[in-house]
Amino acid sequence: MKIYNTQTRKIEEFVPNEPGKVKMYTCGPTVYHFAHIGNLRSYIEEDVLEKYLRRHYDVKRVMNITDVGHLSSDADTGEDKMLKGAKREKKTVMEIAKFYTDAFFADCKALNIKRPDVVEPATGCIPEFIEMVEKLISEGYAYIAGGNVYFDTSKLSDYYVLSNHDAEDLEVGVRDGVEADDNKKNKTDFVLWFTKSKFDDQELKWDSPWGLGYPGWHIECSAICMKHLGDRLDIHCGGVDNIFPHHTNEIAQSEAYIGHKWCNYWFHIHHLNTTTGKMSKSKGEFLTVSLLREKGYDPLVYRFFCLQSHYRKSLAFSYEALDNAKIAYEKLISRIASLNAEGAADENKVKELVSSFESALDNDLNTSLAITAVYDVLKSDASDADKLAAIADMDTVLSIGLIEAANRVNEKADAPAADGELAAWIEEMIAKRFDAKKEKNYAEADRIRAELSDKGITLIDTKEGTKYEIK
Ligand code: AMP
Ligand code: ZN
Repeated sequence: MKIYNTQTRKIEEFVPNEPGKVKMYTCGPTVYHFAHIGNLRSYIEEDVLEKYLRRHYDVKRVMNITDVGHLSSDADTGEDKMLKGAKREKKTVMEIAKFYTDAFFADCKALNIKRPDVVEPATGCIPEFIEMVEKLISEGYAYIAGGNVYFDTSKLSDYYVLSNHDAEDLEVGVRDGVEADDNKKNKTDFVLWFTKSKFDDQELKWDSPWGLGYPGWHIECSAICMKHLGDRLDIHCGGVDNIFPHHTNEIAQSEAYIGHKWCNYWFHIHHLNTTTGKMSKSKGEFLTVSLLREKGYDPLVYRFFCLQSHYRKSLAFSYEALDNAKIAYEKLISRIASLNAEGAADENKVKELVSSFESALDNDLNTSLAITAVYDVLKSDASDADKLAAIADMDTVLSIGLIEAANRVNEKADAPAADGELAAWIEEMIAKRFDAKKEKNYAEADRIRAELSDKGITLIDTKEGTKYEIK
């Protein structure tokens, strides 16, 4: 497989350190709010990468959960995002973390994103962070100033190894809205451990050799990654916004700590934007999986929409574009549903049908060509059984529910319409949800939606009231 490596700025042959095995790390969500569908674009692309690699390798994938230490700016300043979330919802930080971690994995499930083999919250690894910071200090890579521990970026010969950006543009302290921190020896130095911050009301603090405090954001990914994957990583993933400062700082501190190269391939997904610019949780419509569902979109239509474009191009979201994806997806499903499932598939023929799909993904994970390969199978003169087997195989990677959705279409055609009893029960649940919302009991309203969703019933809120669709 060939893949673009941010560090070398080249498309390269992917060769893991150990034959047959891949160690993969993904920056997980900051669980202070729901994930927006932009965040989820990154996780969808990483999921396709992981599932494709699994066809050839034994993959171990690790993800952190940022439940402490991510300040409102990526550059060590501002209030902690988790604390902001807790204040907003009048809950404790740990309650917020639990609620939004669960919500994140519920979104992942709806989008057929596999849970990584290891999911580790930052608050579970404080001793590992402290140990790492202690070694960085003792080896002269870190210093204490004004109560905080900083990484000294001047100790590295090439701090910008990943970003190749104009240093002036990126230096912390000269970016808009980021205040300079006078404790730092160099503008690019970053905090490994805080005991002092302008925002001193941090809820979660731990004892450390430098006093009661909490970790910086970057240290958590290095320490969690090395805890589970050792000191040689094959591939590290995240959205492009993570390249600087987060991944740049991860490399700096990890390689200073272990004394050799850490990660061979850096995989970055470009952003999902709205028509007015960068997607955000605070400005404009907060685009979540639940919102898409409420508007009547199957989350897998969104996954299909993402896979129609390449991960290294930014993608513009609009409802018009999503509607087009929905139409294309439904047409595709009905074509698959019309295939005759009887008869056995010929293994060699199926392999041949899947080969252009594999070449597409081998070529820097070209998912849009991989989807074209599904259409090519449908157009081919292969038997229906071969076509179905090939599409089922491709969908183990694409995970857009092609076979399940086609089966549902066929079952629906055979089944009688919802009987009176079921319809009455759904209406009763809709009424209960309406009451729960009126009482601002959103947890109960969400629970009712989820209960119906588990039974294949999707609620759609419209101006005329709540309607439903049965799959
Ligand atoms: P966060 O929860 O903010 O730590 O972000 C989770 C993941 O989403 C990170 O890998 C980010 O790089 C990625 N991300 C943030 N915004 C976008 C976006 N608009 N499009 C795609 N990925 C994004
Ligand atoms: Zn990270």
